[in-house]
Amino acid sequence: MDRAQNVDRLTEPFDVAIVGGGATGLGAAVESAARGYRTVLVEAHDFAQGTSSRSTKLVHGGVRYLAQGNVGLVREALRERGRLRRNASHLVGDLRFIVPAYAWWSGPYYGVGLKLYDLLAGRFRLGKSRSLDREAVLAALPTLEPEQLKGGIVYVDGQFDDARLAMALALTAADLGAVVINQMPVVGLLKEEGRVRGVVARDAESGREHTVRARVVINATGVFADRIRHLDDPAAVPTVSPSQGIHLVLPASFLPGAHALVVPRTDDGRVLFLIPWHGRTLVGTTDTPVAEPVEEPRPLEEEVNFLLQHTARYLVSDPSRSDVLAVYAGLRPLVRPPDEGVERTASLSRDHHVFTSPSGLVTIVGGKWTTYRKMAEDVVNRAAQVAALAAVPSPTAALRLHGAPGAARTSEVGVPTGPLASYGTDAPALQALVRAEPELGGLLHPRLPYLHAEVVWGARHEMARTVQDVLARRTRALLLDARASAECAPAVAGLLARELGRDRTWEAAQVADYRALAERALLSG
Ligand SMILES: Cc1cc2nc3c(=O)[nH]c(=O)nc-3n(C[C@H](O)[C@H](O)[C@H](O)COP(=O)(O)OP(=O)(O)OC[C@H]3O[C@@H](n4cnc5c(N)ncnc54)[C@H](O)[C@@H]3O)c2cc1C
Repeated sequence: MDRAQNVDRLTEPFDVAIVGGGATGLGAAVESAARGYRTVLVEAHDFAQGTSSRSTKLVHGGVRYLAQGNVGLVREALRERGRLRRNASHLVGDLRFIVPAYAWWSGPYYGVGLKLYDLLAGRFRLGKSRSLDREAVLAALPTLEPEQLKGGIVYVDGQFDDARLAMALALTAADLGAVVINQMPVVGLLKEEGRVRGVVARDAESGREHTVRARVVINATGVFADRIRHLDDPAAVPTVSPSQGIHLVLPASFLPGAHALVVPRTDDGRVLFLIPWHGRTLVGTTDTPVAEPVEEPRPLEEEVNFLLQHTARYLVSDPSRSDVLAVYAGLRPLVRPPDEGVERTASLSRDHHVFTSPSGLVTIVGGKWTTYRKMAEDVVNRAAQVAALAAVPSPTAALRLHGAPGAARTSEVGVPTGPLASYGTDAPALQALVRAEPELGGLLHPRLPYLHAEVVWGARHEMARTVQDVLARRTRALLLDARASAECAPAVAGLLARELGRDRTWEAAQVADYRALAERALLSG
């Protein structure tokens, strides 16, 4: 993906313009381009810079929704889980989850629920849930608090790398002919006779404004959806209620081994996960209503304390603030109950909603990463209707994403590991780059599994434009070890400057910006 070439293509006439490059917008771009519609997507910052790089990284039906009785939603998510497992097998793996039982009744209670979960998955089931005795639970989770432990249940769900999957979607859309551009915020809507006919986007790098014409515009800006709706109609009623969730990243020693731990009911009635991910332990999450969305949400002290306290309750050794390698916060774009004056299209899933404004602006909010493909199918169906595009059935259920090997993998546990695994079928080209330029073969940092070559690859092929793009999303250095990632910022800035033709002033500013970001990903005190 060459950014300059894509910017040049903005003068083309498009069928579908998509605003927002998170899971929802990128999924819609793949769906639209795969149907043969001329498609453009513009993202204000970087792909998945918002909520879509800040998830729990589970591809799941949602055991929680099952407890709430939302069977249809769980069935749909499990079907999408199976498809994603097949279509992005280089980024999605199976993971075994253990629900420990500390009361005599909890084993049978959760056992029945998880049997239903198995049943709902049908042919998309990843593995059978079963009950474990106390010894088997402790063998799988050696750091689990043993006192009063009776046994547990094990079940299988999916796990993935969210920012890398977003990149796979961007690359897939580009492979299908879509124009996909980051650092390009939409600042206005093009309207003719009351109808939305395109967008005005400002290139954050050059400052130039581009008028992009399209037959229909999809607003996929997550928690910012109402801002775009207000560009269309200052009186538009709000559609989103943001809710913050945070995660802590701890060393693998807190949860050694390949199993995840599920606390089915925390003090505030949520599910808490402790998950092995890329050689670390992820702990999350929380659910805190937020009045106004911001681009860099901050974890609250009480959220951090809540996670530390619950983790301590279930593990033999209590994590302290100094154990935390990184903390991150994301905002869920939850759907507000529909108001009068907005035409609502409740699609098959009750989890996401598609709204069509009188101007023809199509907005999609809600949903989750797991169901991004179904959301894309629904929103592109609606966009095609609004713009009277030729009806084309959705081709994405079996579409392999960029980097996925052609054949489905089976019974692999855990996200594929090893150097460059997340690049899938691009990995050999990256290895060839290292052979051609051996100095790129070194590690960026001894505590991080990333090569100098990945910076160059990101700049050349994955539209990485900043140090943050490389360290937070093309690689996951920021999450794996925020301090180490800050230490390699100068090396990354140097390589990027060489690739992008930037000067020393740019490099220094990039390093300063990145260090400020990494500082915020660390806990003080
Ligand atoms: C804490 C947490 C944990 C989660 N865990 C899971 C999980 O384990 N599994 C799962 O399936 N789901 C999970 N989810 C849900 C999932 O992450 C979200 O549903 C999904 O990422 C939302 O994607 P989105 O594209 O709608 O929003 P976003 O990712 O926020 O994307 C919107 C994009 O629009 C861009 N934008 C905004 N304004 C403009 C503009 N004017 N011009 C251009 N672009 C603009 C933003 O920069 C942003 O990149 C979790 C969510 C949270 C918060």
